[in-house]
Amino acid sequence: MKTLQELTRPNIWALKPYSSARDEYKGVEASVFLDANENPYNGPHNRYPDPLQVELKKNLSKLKGVASEHIFLGNGSDEAIDLVFRAFCEPRQDNVVAIDPTYGMYQVCAEINEVEYRKVLLDEHFQFSADKLLEAADAHTKLIFLCSPNNPTGNDLDSSEIERLLRRFEGLVVLDEAYNDFSEQPSFLTRLNEFPNLIVLQTFSKAWGCAAIRLGMAFASKDIVGLLTKIKYPYNVNQLTQQQAMEMLHRYYEIERWVTMLKDERNHLEKVFRTLPCVEQVFPSNANFFLVKVTDAVHIYNYLVGEGIIVRNRHTVSLCGNCLRITVGTKMENETLVNALKQYIG
Ligand SMILES: *Cc1c(COP(=O)(O)O)cnc(C)c1O
Repeated sequence: MKTLQELTRPNIWALKPYSSARDEYKGVEASVFLDANENPYNGPHNRYPDPLQVELKKNLSKLKGVASEHIFLGNGSDEAIDLVFRAFCEPRQDNVVAIDPTYGMYQVCAEINEVEYRKVLLDEHFQFSADKLLEAADAHTKLIFLCSPNNPTGNDLDSSEIERLLRRFEGLVVLDEAYNDFSEQPSFLTRLNEFPNLIVLQTFSKAWGCAAIRLGMAFASKDIVGLLTKIKYPYNVNQLTQQQAMEMLHRYYEIERWVTMLKDERNHLEKVFRTLPCVEQVFPSNANFFLVKVTDAVHIYNYLVGEGIIVRNRHTVSLCGNCLRITVGTKMENETLVNALKQYIG
C-alpha cells in the first residue's frame, strides 16, 4: 500500500478542521451551557448533538468487536461514499475502479466530484477477478469499489479474490457490506488490522430496518477514520438518529429474528419464482432481494405498477437485460406479488 499521505488529497491532508463549541469542552461535568448560541428553551432538542457520537460508537464497538477509533458514522453510507471521494480523489486527475454492475451511488459520487469512474464487467456468474480490476488501475487510481453481497445481483463476491485484491492493490479498497447480515459469508470487519487499505461500509438501512433515520458506518484504520471525521459536517448525525440507533442496538435480537424470517422467505420466493411462466432465470442470492430474468422486464414492470406493486427494473443495467430486482417483503406482500405474476399474460 502507498502511504496514507500519498493517497490523500494534499489540501485535505493539510486541513485544520472546523472546531465546534462542544469540541473545546471535553469530559468535565458541566451544567451551564452558554457556549454554542443555543436556545435554552425547548429541551431536549435545543442542544447540538454529540459531533463524535461517542456513546453510540461505544455501543456499536461492543456489538461489532471493533474499537471506536475504527468507526466513522455518517448520514447513511452514502455520506461515507461521498467523503472517500472528497478525501482521496483529486478531481480531473485521479480515478477509481469498480465492479460492474453494482450500486449506483459510487458512479454518481464520482461524477459529482469529477473523478473518472472505470467499470470492470463481472463474469457470467457475477464474480470479479482481482487481476482484471488491477489491470484497469493505474498510478492515479485511489480507490477500488467492491460490494458483497452485490447489488443488484445479490451474490457474495469470492472472499479469496477480495483478499487477493487487498494484498495487491496500492490504494484503498472500499468493500460495501450493506447486505452482509443476510449472508453466511463472514464480514471483513474482523480483518481490519490485517489490511490497512480496507474500508468496510455497513448501514442501518437494511437488516436493521432503519432506512428512515439515515445512519451508515465506515470501518477502517484509525488514520482513515480520522481523515473522514476531519472533513464531515460537524453535526452530520442528528440527535434523533443517535437515540433511535442506540435503542435498536439494545434490540439486536429482533434484527436476528427479522433476518432469519427474510432469508427463509427469500428461499421460498426463489423456489416459487422458478415455477412462474414469465420467469426465465432466478439468480441465487445472499441478500434480502434477488434478481430474476423474465420474458419482458419493461412490460412486466409496467403491469406490476398497474397492480400497485413496485419492483426495481434493472433491464438497462450491464449483464441484467430483462431483469427485475425483487426485494423480499412480508409473507403477504410476497404473496400479492406472486399472485399478480401468476395472472400475467405475456
Ligand atoms: C442500500 C444500500 C446502501 C445503503 O445506503 P444508506 O445511505 O446507508 O441508506 C449502501 N450500499 C448498497 C450497496 C446498498 O444497496
